[in-house]
Amino acid sequence: MKNKLILALEKEGFLLNEEQLDKFVIFSSLIKEWNTKINLTSLDEDDDIIYKHFLDSLFCLKTGLVWQGKKVIDVGTGAGFPGIPLKIMLGEDIKLTLFDSVQKKVNFLDLVVKELGLNGVKCVHGRAEEYGKMIDYREKYDIVLARAVARLPLLLELCIPFVNLGGFFLAMKGPEGTKELDESEYALKQLGGKINSIDNFFLKDQDYTRVLISFKKNKLTPEKYPRKAGTPQKKPL
Ligand code: SAH
Repeated sequence: MKNKLILALEKEGFLLNEEQLDKFVIFSSLIKEWNTKINLTSLDEDDDIIYKHFLDSLFCLKTGLVWQGKKVIDVGTGAGFPGIPLKIMLGEDIKLTLFDSVQKKVNFLDLVVKELGLNGVKCVHGRAEEYGKMIDYREKYDIVLARAVARLPLLLELCIPFVNLGGFFLAMKGPEGTKELDESEYALKQLGGKINSIDNFFLKDQDYTRVLISFKKNKLTPEKYPRKAGTPQKKPL
């Protein structure tokens, strides 16, 4: 695992110290161990963990966003993606909230944070539709992240309320990302975001395409958003 990991990350320009490598290795064993007990991820082979979880998460660092000193939330983080790999790389540079609506996943994340000795990470159980309205969470984050949570018009309603004015939402999308973007014009206008950047990444060995779209919050989100749980899913903006 360790040697494969070093090679894969180096090829994409990520050089890690021993401590960071060890953290990735421990994280991957915890995923494999716990995936037999709770449903964390459908991908738990070494190659999948290295490329589709770790490396994929680190592509966020190639988008040109500035991370140092930022408050970050990963909405619908699941087994910790992209949040945990980013925290391993950035260390004390970011304060991170890992957020998910499934309690078992949040318990797993608490364990990972402890075993990896990560500082400045908070694991929170809740629904974005509710927390996006709460004073301690609403418009309190410099960078909001989400991977594989929902189609873009819905995802924007779940995520933009967390972003502070002038902050960013980074959506990790597949090849269909730009098409979803075409359907998101109305949602963006309503919620107070505008497109900031679009970056494409391609892993040839893995036949894997990732589209990272960042949005800048240029207006406060009207109080009526996010709508109550269930409504954004039933009637996406
Ligand atoms: N980001 C992870 C997990 C994706 S699966 C990855 O890419 O591997 C989607 C996750 O989002 C699930 O763990 C689910 O529990 C969570 N989720 C879905 N809707 C949510 C909501 N409204 N609020 C909070 N979490 C949500």
